[in-house]
Amino acid sequence: MNKFETQFTDYFSAQQAFAFWKARVGLYALLRAMNIGPDDEVVLPGYTCVMDVNPIKYVGAKPVYVDIEPVMFNMNVDLLEQAITTNTKLILAQHTYGYPCEMNAIFEIANKYNIPVVEDCCLALGSQYKNKLCGTFGKAAYFSFQWNKPFTTGLGGMVSINDKDLIEPMQDIYQQAATPGLKAQSMLKAQRMVYRTVIYPRTTAMITNLFRWMTKKGLVVGSSSCAEFMPEMAEDFLTKMGSMQVAAGTSQMNKINKNIAHRQQMAKLYDKLLSEADFDIPTIPDYMDPVLVRYPLRVSDKEKALAGAPAAGVEIGSWFECPLHPIETPMHLYDYTKGQCPEAEKACRETINLPLHPRAGEKTVRRTVAYIKQFR
Ligand SMILES: *Cc1c(COP(=O)(O)O)cnc(C)c1O
Repeated sequence: MNKFETQFTDYFSAQQAFAFWKARVGLYALLRAMNIGPDDEVVLPGYTCVMDVNPIKYVGAKPVYVDIEPVMFNMNVDLLEQAITTNTKLILAQHTYGYPCEMNAIFEIANKYNIPVVEDCCLALGSQYKNKLCGTFGKAAYFSFQWNKPFTTGLGGMVSINDKDLIEPMQDIYQQAATPGLKAQSMLKAQRMVYRTVIYPRTTAMITNLFRWMTKKGLVVGSSSCAEFMPEMAEDFLTKMGSMQVAAGTSQMNKINKNIAHRQQMAKLYDKLLSEADFDIPTIPDYMDPVLVRYPLRVSDKEKALAGAPAAGVEIGSWFECPLHPIETPMHLYDYTKGQCPEAEKACRETINLPLHPRAGEKTVRRTVAYIKQFR
C-alpha cells in the first residue's frame, strides 16, 4: 500500500485500501471484485450522481432506485424492502451531503435477505452513526477526492475494504489497472495549484464556468467527459491513483481533523443564521454526527437563487439537478423512469447547497446567508 492508502486504512480501521484515479473507478473495481454482473440488481437511492450508476451499467447489472426521505436526502428505508428481488446482489448506502444513512434499518433488511452493503462515502468523510465512522459498516466503502468533495487530490478515489474475503479479488483487479500518464498527472497538479490560489468563494461561480469550458476544449483534465453521460466504458477507465495525487492525499489526510472541525463549526453557524432568518432547520437524530460536504437548503426559487449568485459573489451549488445528477443525463438509459422517485425529484427542484470547505470561513457563511435569505 502507498502512504495515502495506509493512512486511510488506519483512519477507518479497515483491512486494506485501494487508491484509484476516481471514485467511480473504485466502485467499478469493487463491483467486479464482488462478482456483480448481468441480471444482477444493485439498489441505490434515486438521488445520486450518474457517475455512480455508470459502473453498475459497465458490469452489465441493473440499477434499482429507491426514493429518498426529505430531511437528510438519504434512501427512505421504509421503501427499501419492496425494492429487493431475488436478483438483488448489492445495496449501495449513499451518505448524502454527509448525513449518515439509517444504517441499523438498512442492515436489518440486508441481513434478512443476505445482501451485502457497500457505503458510498463520496460526500461523507468523518460522519458518524452511533459513534462509528461511516465507511466502517459495509463490506467496503468508497470515497472521492474530486474538486467538490471533502478534500481534493484533483481527481481521485479510494476504496476501503472491511471484509477480508474481498481483499484478494480486489488485488487481482487492481493489478489490471493502468498507471496514469505523467501528462495527465502534471496537468492535475497544475490545476490544483490554480485551484488553491484563485478559487475563493467569491470567484468560484466564474471559475467553475471557465473550467467547464476548458474541459470541453480538452484544455484541462475534467472530472467527466461527454462520453461519461453514456453507459459505455472508456478503454482507459480502469486506472489507479497516480503518485502526485497520492502525495496530495497524504497531506490532506494529515489535516483531516481540522477539516472536519471546520465543517462542523460552519454548519452550526448556518443552522443558527438560517433559523434566525426563519428557515426550517432539520432536526438530526442525536445518534448521528454528520460532517457535511456542503450545506443543503431548500429554497423558494432555485433557478433564481443560482442565477443571482455570481453577481452577489456567493458560491451556491446545484446538487442534485436531477435524480441522476447532472441535468444532461439521459435518464432512460439508466433505467430511471420520470416520476419514479417523487421526493427525490422534488428535492432536485428545491435544493441548493452552500459552501463549507476550508476556504469558506465565518465571513463567507454570513455573506451567503445574507444573500440566500430572500429565497426562503
Ligand atoms: C462525486 C460522487 C461520486 C463520484 O466520484 P468521482 O471521484 O468523481 O468518480 C460518486 N458518488 C457520489 C455520491 C458523489 O458525490
